Amino acid sequence: MANSGTWLPAARGARFRLVRKIIHLDMDCFYAAVEMRERPELAGQPVAVGGGSRRGVVTTCNYEARAFGVRSAMPGFKAREICPQLVFLPVRFDLYRAASARVREILCDVTPLVEPLSLDEASLDVTALDRFAWDLAKEIRQRIFEKTGLTGSAGIAPNKMLAKIASDWRKPNGQFAITPDQVAAFMRDLPVRKLWGVGPKSAEKFATAGIQTCGDLQRFSLPEMIARHGKWGGELYHLCRGEDDRPVEPHRIRKSLSKECTYLENLESLDDCRAAMDDLIAELREELRGQAGDRRIRKIFVKMKFADFTRITRECLADEPARAIFHRLFETAWRSADGRPVRLLGTGVRFADSAGGGAPLDITQPLFEF
Ligand SMILES: [Mg+2]
Repeated sequence: MANSGTWLPAARGARFRLVRKIIHLDMDCFYAAVEMRERPELAGQPVAVGGGSRRGVVTTCNYEARAFGVRSAMPGFKAREICPQLVFLPVRFDLYRAASARVREILCDVTPLVEPLSLDEASLDVTALDRFAWDLAKEIRQRIFEKTGLTGSAGIAPNKMLAKIASDWRKPNGQFAITPDQVAAFMRDLPVRKLWGVGPKSAEKFATAGIQTCGDLQRFSLPEMIARHGKWGGELYHLCRGEDDRPVEPHRIRKSLSKECTYLENLESLDDCRAAMDDLIAELREELRGQAGDRRIRKIFVKMKFADFTRITRECLADEPARAIFHRLFETAWRSADGRPVRLLGTGVRFADSAGGGAPLDITQPLFEF
């Protein structure tokens, strides 16, 4: 079977500098799944979880809702329009955080090399374990289901990027492996859009140049890639070959944490943007509580991207992710937007230096630093 996904450390793939065995675990429609577990009467019904406000967007929806065309980042009213029987629930982060913590415990029982990426995603380095990664992934998913009643999907690959891509391949409740000797064939046909850092705009540019797949991109030499795309080109050169040397970092010190959303439909009005901002701020604060509760914040920022793909960021000194300050930043950004439709909003914080907590915040500095 082509996808048996079982290889032992350093067995094959000599062309890699280091052959790792990485499992990427991604819980299936996590928020919606937790809600359905809490309310068994919802079984079989289309369920979406989303922003508390009427204008809020869908954060996650279950597969029943997807069958109607409901998607994350879709405006709530639109989701209700195409799926009138949709059960639209407000987000309850305390529940998701608790479920996430239980999943994390199970992962950490397997190896200390667990890098959480968000509440519902993590990478594990299982290279040193004398087990087939395929079997481990199966066991992990089984244990998670037994302990939490939730399903997750796994990707197994020689590096973090490929494992993440692979975790998407057999969703929901499945797993997919890319063994070292399958990497070349897998990358050849993979759309460039799947690579990290390739957004819709870059994908569009590549398509115009006749580049659809990673195989197309591989035709360019490293110097050509750097000449065309700068430093990013150098990274892309490796990524499009399925090469990614970044280790799994269990205690990665984040410099910042942010939440952003690219909306399926552009936000046209100030009120829509404000409501969307509130949802993002709430999510950011929850993520902070879950992942960085002890970190000192130095700055907060907002980010806007417009329909024409231009972008604005605004940031200021602040020691907490206060809603009022986010909104002030947003209002200044909005004024520069000149009524352009908004396709992406983001909110985030930058942390003070980890060592010694950084310089104390100087409150005599102006609030806004542009
Ligand atoms: Mg997920």
